[in-house]
Amino acid sequence: MELSANAQALAYLVSAILFIFALKGLTHPSSARRGNFLGMIGMAIAIVATLAGKEVQSYGFIIAGVVAGALIGGVLAARVQMTAMPQLVAALHSFVGMAAVLVAIGTFLNHRAAGTLNPVLMGELSAGIVIGAITFTGSVVAFGKLQGLISGAPARFAGQHALNAVIGVLTVALAVHFAMTGSMTSLVVMTLLAFLIGLTLIIPIGGADMPVIISMLNSYSGWAAAATGFTLHNNLLIIVGALVGFSGAILSFIMCRAMNRSILNVVFGGFGSDSGGEQSAGAVAADKGVNSASVEDAIYWMEDANRVIIIPGYGMAVAQAQHALKEMMELLEERNVEVKFAIHPVAGRMPGHMNVLLAEADIPYDHVLEMDEINPEFASTDVALVVGANDVVNPAAKSDSSSPIYGMPILEAGKARHVYFLKRSMRPGYAGVDNLLFYQDNVSLIFGDAKDTIEGMVVALKGGGH
Ligand code: NDP
Repeated sequence: MELSANAQALAYLVSAILFIFALKGLTHPSSARRGNFLGMIGMAIAIVATLAGKEVQSYGFIIAGVVAGALIGGVLAARVQMTAMPQLVAALHSFVGMAAVLVAIGTFLNHRAAGTLNPVLMGELSAGIVIGAITFTGSVVAFGKLQGLISGAPARFAGQHALNAVIGVLTVALAVHFAMTGSMTSLVVMTLLAFLIGLTLIIPIGGADMPVIISMLNSYSGWAAAATGFTLHNNLLIIVGALVGFSGAILSFIMCRAMNRSILNVVFGGFGSDSGGEQSAGAVAADKGVNSASVEDAIYWMEDANRVIIIPGYGMAVAQAQHALKEMMELLEERNVEVKFAIHPVAGRMPGHMNVLLAEADIPYDHVLEMDEINPEFASTDVALVVGANDVVNPAAKSDSSSPIYGMPILEAGKARHVYFLKRSMRPGYAGVDNLLFYQDNVSLIFGDAKDTIEGMVVALKGGGH
């Protein structure tokens, strides 16, 4: 069956509308599933309409590519841990970038053979190649940093920005030369330089800023796809590219605002380090003047509390403690304790990470509050239970102007009457900085895996507590 151009345009329009509704759905956890579903239908229609178009001349390579891609993608998606999702997203962006480069080069070669090159087309090709190449190497570096294959610490050297500027100007000059002359040499050198920019742009960025960078690269991959849409005269690709480009840019902006930083500061600031260092929990805690507590100590205050606020962080995801937390929440509610969950916009390792995990455990959405809503409530809260979170409650962000996280708004857990931290050691969080809250009088640490500790609390609550 071959679709007419009109039928294909109509199918693309339906897909584009479904993608817009998909994005709308993804703006809230309660509608995210529906949003995803609409996006999948939109993509299915887009693929069928494209394959049935008259420009497809043979299906052999296409089917081989779809089968290989579906197999690899399916296996990766089924096996990936939630905590490794950002690196998977980075890897996928790198494919989009490389696809844009290859499609642009292929289109150039076809048009050159047919003698149909023109400056406008070559301008579009240059844009696709440059953005695609930057997205590719940038995403590969982001993947390497998040996967721990290369150091998460910002790699900086003197003259870095000047070097980037020189490479940037050279690349633009070559792109202009290529568009005017169709010179193969300009094309090759421009492509190599664009690959280099992706590397030199992302290498200096610290691990703690990776979420913003991933979202920025997401935006780039959208623009690369849009540029490819222009070269292939494919309206849907242009629309989808623009949707991805803008939504990635808006998300980067929202995340920067959540950290009280500008995008320029993220790209040129370079903060964050590999956290680490071998420290044993209790001994180091005592050395540093930190209170450690037991499950029973925490339960003593929690079961008679009016309100308990739970602050989940990356450690909850590692421990997979969300189901145990749900059980604990129900046991506390049976005792008329009000239980709320406080979500920091960059808690965990990807936007919405905590919301997804809490939703997976069927924790009602009305129990889950964003930072601005919940912060005024800490001062009148009996117990703040910090479950594997660290940076997002660190008061150094407010009080220590030399701290790399200075300026990031935090969850004000320290204002609660009692604060219990559930973590395994004294190791810092993602930004690699010590947490000043540990040293506050009303704060105690309960060392151990968060899931084990919460399960201990559930047992204690079932057994009538202390
Ligand atoms: P942090 O990384 O600050 O802290 C997580 C804490 O969890 C660690 O201190 C760790 O301590 C503890 N932990 C790890 N495993 C376990 C476990 N099994 N049981 C109990 N505790 C555990 O996390 P936050 O969520 O507070 O902050 C997020 C950080 O990640 C921010 O710096 C943010 O900028 C960054 N980031 C955010 C992304 C996003 O999009 N949300 C993406 C990438 C980075 P210990 O080792 O002692 O157990």
